[in-house]
Amino acid sequence: MIRINGRTTIGKPDKLFGVSALAKARIAEIGKENVINSTLGVLLDDNGKLVVLSSVMEALRELAPEEFAAYAPIIGIPEYKEAVTKAVFLDEIPQDIFIETCYAPGGTGSLRNAISCYSSPKDKILTSDWHWAPYNVIAAELGREVVTYTLFDEDYHFNDASFRASLSEILAVQDQAVVIINTPAHNPTGYTFTLEDWDKVLDIFKSFPNKNIVCVVDIAYLDFAGDAHEYRAFLKKLTGLPHHILPLIAFSASKGFTMYGMRCGALLCMAPTAELAKEFKDATSVASRASWSNGNHSAMAVISKIFADDTLLAKVTEERNHYMKNLQERGRAFMEEAGKIGLQCCPYDSGFFITVPCDNAEEVGKALQALNVFAIPLGPGIRVSVASNTIAECRAIPGKLQQAITQINGK
Ligand code: PLP
Repeated sequence: MIRINGRTTIGKPDKLFGVSALAKARIAEIGKENVINSTLGVLLDDNGKLVVLSSVMEALRELAPEEFAAYAPIIGIPEYKEAVTKAVFLDEIPQDIFIETCYAPGGTGSLRNAISCYSSPKDKILTSDWHWAPYNVIAAELGREVVTYTLFDEDYHFNDASFRASLSEILAVQDQAVVIINTPAHNPTGYTFTLEDWDKVLDIFKSFPNKNIVCVVDIAYLDFAGDAHEYRAFLKKLTGLPHHILPLIAFSASKGFTMYGMRCGALLCMAPTAELAKEFKDATSVASRASWSNGNHSAMAVISKIFADDTLLAKVTEERNHYMKNLQERGRAFMEEAGKIGLQCCPYDSGFFITVPCDNAEEVGKALQALNVFAIPLGPGIRVSVASNTIAECRAIPGKLQQAITQINGK
Protein backbone atom coordinates (compact mmCIF):
# COMPACT_ATOMS: atom_id res chain seq x y z
CA MET A 1 0.00 0.00 0.00
CA ILE A 2 3.00 2.20 0.31
CA ARG A 3 3.25 5.19 -2.00
CA ILE A 4 6.76 5.25 -3.33
CA ASN A 5 6.71 8.90 -4.42
CA GLY A 6 10.37 10.01 -4.49
CA ARG A 7 11.53 7.28 -2.08
CA THR A 8 13.64 5.30 -4.51
CA THR A 9 15.58 3.48 -1.80
CA ILE A 10 12.61 1.77 -0.14
CA GLY A 11 13.48 -1.86 0.59
CA LYS A 12 17.13 -1.45 -0.30
CA PRO A 13 19.61 -2.28 2.43
CA ASP A 14 21.49 0.67 3.92
CA LYS A 15 24.97 0.33 2.49
CA LEU A 16 26.79 1.94 5.38
CA PHE A 17 25.17 -0.19 8.06
CA GLY A 18 25.50 -3.26 5.83
CA VAL A 19 29.29 -2.94 5.55
CA SER A 20 29.54 -2.02 9.21
CA ALA A 21 27.63 -5.20 10.14
CA LEU A 22 30.04 -7.25 8.01
CA ALA A 23 32.98 -5.65 9.86
CA LYS A 24 31.43 -6.55 13.21
CA ALA A 25 30.85 -10.13 12.09
CA ARG A 26 34.50 -10.44 10.97
CA ILE A 27 35.66 -8.99 14.30
CA ALA A 28 33.60 -11.63 16.13
CA GLU A 29 35.26 -14.29 13.98
CA ILE A 30 38.95 -13.31 14.05
CA GLY A 31 39.32 -10.62 16.73
CA LYS A 32 39.37 -6.84 16.82
CA GLU A 33 43.15 -6.63 16.38
CA ASN A 34 42.91 -8.33 12.98
CA VAL A 35 40.18 -6.18 11.44
CA ILE A 36 40.06 -2.51 10.45
CA ASN A 37 36.55 -1.09 10.61
CA SER A 38 36.61 2.21 8.73
CA THR A 39 32.90 2.53 8.12
CA LEU A 40 31.58 4.73 10.94
CA GLY A 41 31.04 8.45 10.59
CA VAL A 42 31.81 9.24 14.22
CA LEU A 43 34.99 10.06 16.10
CA LEU A 44 36.31 7.11 18.11
CA ASP A 45 39.23 7.16 20.54
CA ASP A 46 42.23 4.87 20.14
CA ASN A 47 40.37 2.12 22.02
CA GLY A 48 37.46 2.23 19.60
CA LYS A 49 35.14 4.04 22.03
CA LEU A 50 32.93 6.96 21.00
CA VAL A 51 34.57 10.27 21.91
CA VAL A 52 32.17 12.18 24.16
CA LEU A 53 33.22 15.64 25.39
CA SER A 54 32.96 15.38 29.18
CA SER A 55 32.56 19.17 29.52
CA VAL A 56 29.40 19.01 27.40
CA MET A 57 28.06 16.10 29.43
CA GLU A 58 28.73 17.95 32.71
CA ALA A 59 26.72 20.90 31.42
CA LEU A 60 23.93 18.52 30.49
CA ARG A 61 23.85 16.99 33.98
CA GLU A 62 23.49 20.43 35.55
CA LEU A 63 20.28 21.33 33.71
CA ALA A 64 17.10 21.99 35.69
CA PRO A 65 14.19 19.55 35.19
CA GLU A 66 12.15 22.17 33.27
CA GLU A 67 15.00 22.52 30.80
CA PHE A 68 14.36 18.92 29.83
CA ALA A 69 10.64 18.73 30.31
CA ALA A 70 9.13 21.97 29.04
CA TYR A 71 8.26 22.55 25.41
CA ALA A 72 10.69 24.90 23.71
CA PRO A 73 9.42 27.56 21.28
CA ILE A 74 9.36 26.17 17.74
CA ILE A 75 12.12 28.48 16.53
CA GLY A 76 14.25 27.60 19.57
CA ILE A 77 14.69 29.04 23.05
CA PRO A 78 15.76 32.72 22.86
CA GLU A 79 19.26 32.04 24.27
CA TYR A 80 19.80 29.43 21.57
CA LYS A 81 19.67 32.03 18.78
CA GLU A 82 22.55 33.88 20.44
CA ALA A 83 24.45 30.64 21.04
CA VAL A 84 24.11 29.42 17.45
CA THR A 85 25.18 32.83 16.14
CA LYS A 86 28.30 32.66 18.33
CA ALA A 87 28.94 29.03 17.41
CA VAL A 88 28.94 29.98 13.74
CA PHE A 89 30.79 33.33 13.85
CA LEU A 90 32.59 33.17 17.23
CA ASP A 91 33.50 36.74 18.21
CA GLU A 92 33.22 38.13 14.67
CA ILE A 93 29.47 38.43 14.29
CA PRO A 94 28.78 40.45 11.14
CA GLN A 95 26.87 43.66 11.80
CA ASP A 96 25.85 44.52 8.25
CA ILE A 97 23.43 41.64 7.69
CA PHE A 98 20.21 40.36 9.29
CA ILE A 99 20.74 37.11 11.16
CA GLU A 100 17.93 34.77 12.14
CA THR A 101 18.16 31.20 13.34
CA CYS A 102 15.73 28.32 13.59
CA TYR A 103 16.36 25.19 15.67
CA ALA A 104 16.48 21.92 13.75
CA PRO A 105 17.15 18.35 14.91
CA GLY A 106 20.74 18.22 13.69
CA GLY A 107 22.24 19.39 10.44
CA THR A 108 19.83 16.99 8.75
CA GLY A 109 16.82 18.95 9.93
CA SER A 110 18.37 22.27 8.93
CA LEU A 111 19.05 20.97 5.41
CA ARG A 112 15.50 19.66 5.25
CA ASN A 113 14.10 23.08 6.14
CA ALA A 114 16.42 24.86 3.71
CA ILE A 115 15.23 22.68 0.84
CA SER A 116 11.61 22.77 1.94
CA CYS A 117 11.48 26.57 2.36
CA TYR A 118 13.60 27.73 -0.57
CA SER A 119 12.71 25.36 -3.40
CA SER A 120 9.48 24.18 -5.02
CA PRO A 121 8.35 20.64 -5.75
CA LYS A 122 10.19 19.22 -8.81
CA ASP A 123 13.02 21.77 -8.44
CA LYS A 124 16.61 20.68 -8.88
CA ILE A 125 19.00 21.21 -5.96
CA LEU A 126 22.68 21.57 -6.86
CA THR A 127 25.57 19.96 -5.02
CA SER A 128 28.89 18.30 -5.92
CA ASP A 129 29.22 14.79 -7.38
CA TRP A 130 30.98 13.66 -4.20
CA HIS A 131 28.38 14.35 -1.51
CA TRP A 132 26.71 13.10 1.64
CA ALA A 133 24.09 10.65 0.34
CA PRO A 134 21.18 11.78 2.60
CA TYR A 135 20.93 15.02 0.56
CA ASN A 136 19.26 12.83 -2.06
CA VAL A 137 16.66 11.30 0.26
CA ILE A 138 15.87 14.59 1.93
CA ALA A 139 15.27 16.17 -1.48
CA ALA A 140 13.34 13.18 -2.82
CA GLU A 141 11.11 13.03 0.26
CA LEU A 142 10.15 16.63 -0.48
CA GLY A 143 9.60 15.94 -4.18
CA ARG A 144 12.83 17.69 -5.25
CA GLU A 145 15.85 16.22 -6.96
CA VAL A 146 19.58 16.60 -6.31
CA VAL A 147 21.72 17.18 -9.40
CA THR A 148 25.48 17.42 -9.32
CA TYR A 149 28.47 19.21 -10.79
CA THR A 150 31.95 17.71 -10.90
CA LEU A 151 33.74 18.90 -7.76
CA PHE A 152 37.31 18.44 -8.98
CA ASP A 153 38.98 19.11 -12.31
CA GLU A 154 41.75 16.88 -13.69
CA ASP A 155 44.26 18.47 -11.34
CA TYR A 156 42.00 17.90 -8.35
CA HIS A 157 41.20 21.60 -7.98
CA PHE A 158 37.71 23.04 -7.58
CA ASN A 159 36.01 22.69 -10.96
CA ASP A 160 34.39 26.11 -11.29
CA ALA A 161 33.60 25.51 -14.98
CA SER A 162 31.45 22.50 -14.10
CA PHE A 163 29.86 24.42 -11.22
CA ARG A 164 28.95 27.30 -13.55
CA ALA A 165 27.61 24.99 -16.27
CA SER A 166 25.39 23.02 -13.88
CA LEU A 167 24.01 26.10 -12.17
CA SER A 168 23.37 27.70 -15.52
CA GLU A 169 21.41 24.64 -16.67
CA ILE A 170 19.21 24.79 -13.59
CA LEU A 171 18.65 28.52 -13.86
CA ALA A 172 17.66 28.18 -17.49
CA VAL A 173 14.44 26.57 -16.24
CA GLN A 174 14.12 27.76 -12.62
CA ASP A 175 14.03 31.32 -11.32
CA GLN A 176 15.63 30.25 -8.05
CA ALA A 177 18.22 27.62 -7.13
CA VAL A 178 19.29 26.04 -3.86
CA VAL A 179 22.99 25.17 -3.89
CA ILE A 180 24.52 23.04 -1.11
CA ILE A 181 28.21 23.44 -0.37
CA ASN A 182 29.64 21.20 2.34
CA THR A 183 32.79 22.85 3.64
CA PRO A 184 35.14 22.83 5.48
CA ALA A 185 36.23 19.20 5.84
CA HIS A 186 33.79 17.92 3.23
CA ASN A 187 32.17 14.51 3.63
CA PRO A 188 33.37 12.28 1.95
CA THR A 189 36.58 13.81 0.56
CA GLY A 190 37.93 16.03 3.37
CA TYR A 191 38.21 18.90 0.89
CA THR A 192 37.89 22.48 2.13
CA PHE A 193 36.86 25.26 -0.26
CA THR A 194 39.72 27.78 -0.38
CA LEU A 195 39.03 31.50 -0.25
CA GLU A 196 39.80 31.57 -3.99
CA ASP A 197 37.21 28.84 -4.58
CA TRP A 198 34.70 30.99 -2.72
CA ASP A 199 35.55 33.99 -4.90
CA LYS A 200 34.83 31.88 -7.95
CA VAL A 201 31.54 30.58 -6.51
CA LEU A 202 30.38 34.09 -5.61
CA ASP A 203 31.41 35.53 -8.99
CA ILE A 204 29.33 32.81 -10.63
CA PHE A 205 26.35 33.64 -8.39
CA LYS A 206 26.78 37.33 -9.24
CA SER A 207 26.67 36.52 -12.94
CA PHE A 208 22.97 35.57 -12.60
CA PRO A 209 21.59 38.89 -11.29
CA ASN A 210 18.05 38.14 -12.45
CA LYS A 211 17.78 34.84 -10.60
CA ASN A 212 17.68 34.05 -6.88
CA ILE A 213 20.39 31.83 -5.43
CA VAL A 214 20.17 30.30 -1.97
CA CYS A 215 23.57 29.04 -0.94
CA VAL A 216 23.35 26.52 1.91
CA VAL A 217 26.73 26.01 3.55
CA ASP A 218 26.75 22.68 5.38
CA ILE A 219 29.28 23.22 8.18
CA ALA A 220 28.74 19.87 9.94
CA TYR A 221 32.51 19.31 10.39
CA LEU A 222 33.64 22.94 10.94
CA ASP A 223 34.75 22.51 14.53
CA PHE A 224 36.99 19.56 13.72
CA ALA A 225 38.58 21.20 10.66
CA GLY A 226 41.42 23.16 12.27
CA ASP A 227 42.08 26.68 13.52
CA ALA A 228 38.68 28.05 14.47
CA HIS A 229 39.19 31.54 13.02
CA GLU A 230 41.04 30.50 9.89
CA TYR A 231 38.34 28.00 8.95
CA ARG A 232 35.64 30.64 9.43
CA ALA A 233 37.36 33.23 7.20
CA PHE A 234 35.06 32.38 4.28
CA LEU A 235 32.05 33.63 6.24
CA LYS A 236 33.21 37.23 5.75
CA LYS A 237 32.80 36.75 2.01
CA LEU A 238 29.13 35.95 2.52
CA THR A 239 28.27 39.48 3.65
CA GLY A 240 27.71 42.54 1.46
CA LEU A 241 26.45 40.40 -1.41
CA PRO A 242 23.88 41.44 -4.02
CA HIS A 243 20.35 40.84 -2.78
CA HIS A 244 19.62 37.96 -5.13
CA ILE A 245 22.06 35.79 -3.14
CA LEU A 246 20.95 34.42 0.23
CA PRO A 247 23.54 32.51 2.29
CA LEU A 248 22.17 29.99 4.80
CA ILE A 249 24.31 28.10 7.28
CA ALA A 250 23.39 24.54 8.30
CA PHE A 251 24.76 24.28 11.85
CA SER A 252 25.05 20.94 13.63
CA ALA A 253 26.05 20.19 17.22
CA SER A 254 26.44 16.49 16.40
CA LYS A 255 30.18 16.42 15.72
CA GLY A 256 31.52 19.64 17.23
CA PHE A 257 29.84 19.04 20.59
CA THR A 258 29.62 15.22 20.33
CA MET A 259 25.84 15.50 20.67
CA TYR A 260 25.06 13.20 17.72
CA GLY A 261 22.15 11.45 19.42
CA MET A 262 20.68 14.57 21.01
CA ARG A 263 19.62 15.90 17.61
CA CYS A 264 20.63 19.50 17.86
CA GLY A 265 21.29 21.90 15.01
CA ALA A 266 19.94 25.05 13.42
CA LEU A 267 19.50 26.80 10.13
CA LEU A 268 20.92 30.34 10.22
CA CYS A 269 20.27 32.99 7.59
CA MET A 270 22.70 35.75 6.67
CA ALA A 271 20.04 37.91 5.04
CA PRO A 272 20.97 41.10 3.20
CA THR A 273 17.60 42.69 4.11
CA ALA A 274 15.26 42.66 7.10
CA GLU A 275 12.43 41.43 4.83
CA LEU A 276 14.37 38.33 3.82
CA ALA A 277 15.23 37.64 7.45
CA LYS A 278 11.59 37.91 8.52
CA GLU A 279 10.52 35.65 5.68
CA PHE A 280 13.12 33.11 6.83
CA LYS A 281 11.83 33.15 10.40
CA ASP A 282 8.18 32.86 9.38
CA ALA A 283 8.74 30.08 6.85
CA THR A 284 11.13 27.95 8.91
CA SER A 285 8.75 28.15 11.90
CA VAL A 286 5.94 26.69 9.82
CA ALA A 287 8.20 24.07 8.20
CA SER A 288 9.42 22.96 11.65
CA ARG A 289 5.89 22.88 13.07
CA ALA A 290 4.84 20.64 10.23
CA SER A 291 7.71 18.16 10.62
CA TRP A 292 9.14 17.80 14.18
CA SER A 293 7.28 20.64 15.89
CA ASN A 294 9.19 21.76 19.00
CA GLY A 295 12.86 20.94 19.37
CA ASN A 296 15.01 19.21 21.96
CA HIS A 297 14.87 21.71 24.82
CA SER A 298 17.72 20.18 26.85
CA ALA A 299 20.08 20.09 23.88
CA MET A 300 19.40 23.76 23.13
CA ALA A 301 19.86 24.62 26.81
CA VAL A 302 23.28 22.92 26.88
CA ILE A 303 24.53 24.76 23.80
CA SER A 304 23.12 28.02 25.21
CA LYS A 305 24.92 27.50 28.55
CA ILE A 306 28.22 26.75 26.82
CA PHE A 307 28.14 29.97 24.82
CA ALA A 308 26.95 32.09 27.77
CA ASP A 309 29.87 30.99 29.97
CA ASP A 310 33.38 31.82 28.73
CA THR A 311 35.02 29.38 31.16
CA LEU A 312 32.83 26.51 30.06
CA LEU A 313 33.30 27.42 26.38
CA ALA A 314 37.08 27.42 26.88
CA LYS A 315 36.85 23.99 28.52
CA VAL A 316 34.80 22.56 25.65
CA THR A 317 37.17 24.08 23.07
CA GLU A 318 40.26 22.77 24.84
CA GLU A 319 38.83 19.28 25.14
CA ARG A 320 37.73 19.27 21.51
CA ASN A 321 41.13 20.56 20.35
CA HIS A 322 42.81 17.61 22.03
CA TYR A 323 40.75 15.19 19.94
CA MET A 324 41.10 17.34 16.84
CA LYS A 325 44.89 17.06 17.06
CA ASN A 326 44.56 13.31 17.24
CA LEU A 327 42.24 13.35 14.21
CA GLN A 328 44.71 15.53 12.30
CA GLU A 329 47.52 13.06 13.07
CA ARG A 330 45.39 10.22 11.73
CA GLY A 331 44.66 12.13 8.51
CA ARG A 332 48.35 12.99 8.12
CA ALA A 333 49.37 9.37 8.71
CA PHE A 334 46.99 8.15 5.98
CA MET A 335 48.05 10.80 3.46
CA GLU A 336 51.76 10.23 4.15
CA GLU A 337 51.48 6.50 3.48
CA ALA A 338 49.29 7.11 0.42
CA GLY A 339 51.92 9.56 -0.87
CA LYS A 340 54.73 7.06 -0.35
CA ILE A 341 53.03 4.40 -2.49
CA GLY A 342 51.49 6.78 -5.04
CA LEU A 343 47.89 6.07 -4.07
CA GLN A 344 45.74 8.82 -5.59
CA CYS A 345 43.37 10.39 -3.05
CA CYS A 346 40.87 13.22 -3.33
CA PRO A 347 42.50 16.41 -1.98
CA TYR A 348 42.07 15.86 1.76
CA ASP A 349 42.42 18.91 3.95
CA SER A 350 40.72 17.93 7.19
CA GLY A 351 37.83 16.13 8.78
CA PHE A 352 36.53 12.66 9.38
CA PHE A 353 36.86 11.14 5.90
CA ILE A 354 39.31 10.53 3.05
CA THR A 355 38.19 9.25 -0.33
CA VAL A 356 40.25 7.25 -2.78
CA PRO A 357 38.79 7.44 -6.30
CA CYS A 358 38.83 4.16 -8.24
CA ASP A 359 36.96 2.23 -10.90
CA ASN A 360 34.74 -0.67 -9.86
CA ALA A 361 34.47 0.64 -6.31
CA GLU A 362 31.98 -2.02 -5.19
CA GLU A 363 34.36 -4.83 -6.22
CA VAL A 364 37.35 -3.01 -4.75
CA GLY A 365 35.39 -2.67 -1.50
CA LYS A 366 34.79 -6.42 -1.44
CA ALA A 367 38.45 -7.18 -2.22
CA LEU A 368 39.36 -4.87 0.65
CA GLN A 369 37.03 -6.79 2.94
CA ALA A 370 38.88 -9.97 2.04
CA LEU A 371 41.97 -8.20 3.43
CA ASN A 372 39.98 -7.52 6.62
CA VAL A 373 39.56 -3.81 5.96
CA PHE A 374 36.00 -2.48 5.83
CA ALA A 375 35.32 0.89 4.17
CA ILE A 376 32.41 2.31 2.18
CA PRO A 377 32.28 2.22 -1.63
CA LEU A 378 30.77 5.55 -2.65
CA GLY A 379 30.16 6.21 -6.33
CA PRO A 380 33.54 5.98 -8.07
CA GLY A 381 35.62 5.61 -4.93
CA ILE A 382 36.17 4.20 -1.46
CA ARG A 383 35.49 6.32 1.62
CA VAL A 384 37.74 5.74 4.59
CA SER A 385 36.77 7.10 8.01
CA VAL A 386 40.02 8.21 9.63
CA ALA A 387 37.84 9.47 12.50
CA SER A 388 37.18 5.91 13.57
CA ASN A 389 40.67 4.45 13.12
CA THR A 390 43.91 4.60 15.10
CA ILE A 391 47.06 6.14 13.64
CA ALA A 392 48.49 2.67 13.08
CA GLU A 393 45.35 1.63 11.19
CA CYS A 394 45.46 4.85 9.14
CA ARG A 395 49.02 3.92 8.16
CA ALA A 396 47.97 0.39 7.22
CA ILE A 397 44.90 1.18 5.09
CA PRO A 398 46.54 2.82 2.01
CA GLY A 399 48.67 -0.25 1.25
CA LYS A 400 45.67 -2.56 1.58
CA LEU A 401 43.59 -0.27 -0.60
CA GLN A 402 46.31 -0.19 -3.23
CA GLN A 403 46.41 -3.99 -3.13
CA ALA A 404 42.62 -4.27 -3.55
CA ILE A 405 42.57 -1.75 -6.43
CA THR A 406 45.39 -3.57 -8.22
CA GLN A 407 43.65 -6.90 -7.72
CA ILE A 408 40.40 -5.63 -9.26
CA ASN A 409 41.57 -3.07 -11.80
CA GLY A 410 45.05 -4.35 -12.53
CA LYS A 411 46.72 -0.97 -11.99
N1 PLP B 1 26.10 17.08 6.65
C1 PLP B 1 27.03 16.16 6.50
C2 PLP B 1 27.97 16.29 5.36
C3 PLP B 1 27.13 15.07 7.37
O1 PLP B 1 28.07 14.15 7.18
C4 PLP B 1 26.20 14.97 8.43
C5 PLP B 1 26.26 13.84 9.35
O2 PLP B 1 26.88 12.84 9.16
C6 PLP B 1 25.24 15.98 8.55
C7 PLP B 1 25.21 17.02 7.65
C8 PLP B 1 24.17 16.02 9.58
O3 PLP B 1 24.39 15.44 10.76
P1 PLP B 1 23.36 15.58 11.96
O4 PLP B 1 21.98 15.58 11.42
O5 PLP B 1 23.66 14.42 12.82
O6 PLP B 1 23.68 16.89 12.62
